[in-house]
Amino acid sequence: MNHSVFRGNLVLPDQILQDGCLVTGDGLIEYVGPWDTCPVEEQQAVRHIKDGWIAPGYVDIHVHGGENADYMDGTTEAVRIANRIHARHGTTTLFPTTTTGTPDQLDRMLHACLSVQENHQISDGARIGGVHYYGPFFAPDKVGCHSLDGRRDPDPDEYIRCFDLGIIQVATCAAELPGAEAFYREASQRGYLVTCGHSNATWNEMASAFEAGMRHVDHFWCAMSSISGIRKQYGFPMQGSMEQFVLMEPEMSTEVIADGEHLSPELLEFAYRMIGPDRLCLVTDANRAMGMPPGKYRFGPNDEGAWFESDGKVGFVSRESLASSVVGMDTMVRNMYENTSAEIHEAIRMATLTPAERVGMDDEIGSLEVGKRADFILLDSILEVKDTFVEGMELER
Ligand SMILES: [Zn+2]
Repeated sequence: MNHSVFRGNLVLPDQILQDGCLVTGDGLIEYVGPWDTCPVEEQQAVRHIKDGWIAPGYVDIHVHGGENADYMDGTTEAVRIANRIHARHGTTTLFPTTTTGTPDQLDRMLHACLSVQENHQISDGARIGGVHYYGPFFAPDKVGCHSLDGRRDPDPDEYIRCFDLGIIQVATCAAELPGAEAFYREASQRGYLVTCGHSNATWNEMASAFEAGMRHVDHFWCAMSSISGIRKQYGFPMQGSMEQFVLMEPEMSTEVIADGEHLSPELLEFAYRMIGPDRLCLVTDANRAMGMPPGKYRFGPNDEGAWFESDGKVGFVSRESLASSVVGMDTMVRNMYENTSAEIHEAIRMATLTPAERVGMDDEIGSLEVGKRADFILLDSILEVKDTFVEGMELER
């Protein structure tokens, strides 16, 4: 059997193991522990990482594309291009994320992802864990940069057909839409991570959604309700919003876009301290402008998605409206580590084990643990990704 042995500082979910040993074989992790007790045979080549860390591969539950490909382009080629660039930035499992669009466009996206998932080869880059069915069920006043034409209320005929394809693992719907509760119940019964996003939901709407199985909110503080927004709509007494619901309910999780452009350092620190690394995920929410020069791009399908601009740091529609990120998970982890009091293993947990737990895949991926897939990355001392391994195999960079 073909074993590979790595020596270096291992990033575990609750600590750093200094001078540790990682052994992989047959695509799985076979040993994790101190170097002193490493079961290494004589003559065995050892890759010694003297500076930096050996960490689990990143898991991204909210990602739209990269390198001029959007998953909504609906071709296997676009899916593979995006999966490859994210792997170079440290992601080994991702959840291609739908936007608003026609039922046909969503169908093409789901089938393209299914085909790439079923025929995965190491050269394809990050593996598809499942699809994040995100658009089209957004609130009309919270579509953000997504095309309004492509949004609609949840229709069971449409979403059950999509669910039945067997690739969806995360499902979003705005809680205030007619039919949202039935959507949540169906998605929750199938074991998906059920999320409320692009929504202006009140506390009561969140409470009913929770009852129906909703457990997550997309990109905290972005395209979601606030106390002052709800007051403008419904007057006094002021009511709780999605924000208070997530902060107060321990079974809820959420995610932040930690690119340094969407949220200020104190908001990242607030999210880290108030929500905590066990229920806060880092996501890229990256669009097709990731890895591309500044310019104008389309969000969603390449023939009719809504236009936005990238300045190389972030996507935006106007000064008042951002259009998601243009960087990889490596940047999110680095920002979280540099801008908050989170330890390295906590910043990395938020990009690995926490999302894996939320989607129910933590028995396969998300940490350096014996029996899990040998998906890991080598990081240098400033958290740059030097190498990405999927199932124990090193990706070409
Ligand atoms: Zn998004």
